[in-house]
Amino acid sequence: MNGPGRELEIRREYAEQCRSCGNCRSVCPIFAEICTEDAVARGKISLIRAVLDAELDLTAIFDEKIQLCLNCKACRDACPNSVPVDELILASRSGLVQAGRLPFVKRVILRQLLRRGRLLPPMCRCASFFQRVVLRGFPRESALRQLLPVMGIERGRVLPEFAARAFLADAPEVVQPAPGAEQIGDTAPVSPNADRETVARAARSAVFFVGCATNLLYPGTARAIVDALGRSGVAVHVPRRQGCCGTPVIEAGDFVTARAIAAENVAMLRGSGADVVVTGCASCGFTFKKKYVELLGIEGGTGMPVFDFAEFLAHRGVPAVPAGGERTAASKVRVTYHEPCQLSRGQGITEEPRSVLRSLTWIEFVEMRDSDRCCGGGGTFSLTNYDLASAIGRRKADAIREAGVDIVVTECPSCVMQLRDVAAQAGLDVAVLAIADLVAMGYDGAEVRAELPAGTGPATALSGA
Ligand code: SF4
Ligand code: SF4
Repeated sequence: MNGPGRELEIRREYAEQCRSCGNCRSVCPIFAEICTEDAVARGKISLIRAVLDAELDLTAIFDEKIQLCLNCKACRDACPNSVPVDELILASRSGLVQAGRLPFVKRVILRQLLRRGRLLPPMCRCASFFQRVVLRGFPRESALRQLLPVMGIERGRVLPEFAARAFLADAPEVVQPAPGAEQIGDTAPVSPNADRETVARAARSAVFFVGCATNLLYPGTARAIVDALGRSGVAVHVPRRQGCCGTPVIEAGDFVTARAIAAENVAMLRGSGADVVVTGCASCGFTFKKKYVELLGIEGGTGMPVFDFAEFLAHRGVPAVPAGGERTAASKVRVTYHEPCQLSRGQGITEEPRSVLRSLTWIEFVEMRDSDRCCGGGGTFSLTNYDLASAIGRRKADAIREAGVDIVVTECPSCVMQLRDVAAQAGLDVAVLAIADLVAMGYDGAEVRAELPAGTGPATALSGA
């Protein structure tokens, strides 16, 4: 019989905090769809306790139940006993990895592709060629497309296209502040106890951590972030040798590989000499802020203030649109905001993205119902549990429809990917963008407009703006 593993053992008291009250049942998006006890935190914790008490081995069934989680943290927030369910689940996955239950393909992806990083861009270039040249040339009913489910991909799924060139392939190492940008950075050293706004306003330079998904799938978003940061008056450092933040590795429970990735990232970020770290990916930000210290035990974490892009801009002020470029009221588009779990519950950032959106005078910001409800993406969850992720996503689609908007923005590439599919499957005429894409429209709509799905209402509305 395998033991529970060190990571779970040292978190035994967390499992004992659970009083089986069942509050978590009312918030779990998976439980809402399948209504079985093993889907919800209470059921998972019962299994974890059984493993800790040596009543249950780390079996395939235990593995299956522990993987069935979006890590959305809704249960943790709703728990009257403050049980850190997310930590318990990840620690359980770590035990499963130690017991040799990491599947071969996942092992190669995590330890070779993500850990070493160099192979990922050329592989994605091949995937881009396959998507652009091979798949696009074949009709939906072609035999080639019939093979997609064999590769674990739903035939009708809206998948993001890999960029022909990753953002980092062309990005300059340092981008100086835009000419004429307001220099609000303070030369005086900032106290380590300064509040977030003071730190953001004092920064003269920022190291931009792109994240794998934005680098390989959404390079336009990465360029929009660098552009907005430059306009805000900071010098932007973009180290070429950055790779994965470690989130998928941590999520899989491979803490040994994650610690190695984290150590390299910490050296890279500190080596940039920048004042702050900025990322546009909610998962990267959460991992840097919380997981490097809490879960991986890296003393001091990154050792630098880490900001989400929208958080940074909210504190520093959204750079003004050049004179003459303002949009008129007649061209206002209705925009709503979907809160990524790793930003709202993970980092406690809820108001800052809204503050950025409210500052864009050419949009009408509309709140959607249950904006913080998980969209079903869950990192790689939707890739392996498409039907369940789609069912969870349909509730989000209903809320978007009710909001009656042209554009949905969010702050996480995994949410962008999921919401684009969710919107397409529900027949919604909306564009799904990152906040940076929307901010960029205020400066130069051309590039972003070109990236909007063809024929959508917003593309039409904005073309005349
Ligand atoms: S809400 Fe918390 S204490 Fe109650 S059953 Fe769920 S995890 Fe246990
Ligand atoms: S983290 Fe989310 S999906 Fe996982 S058990 Fe908790 S509420 Fe359910």
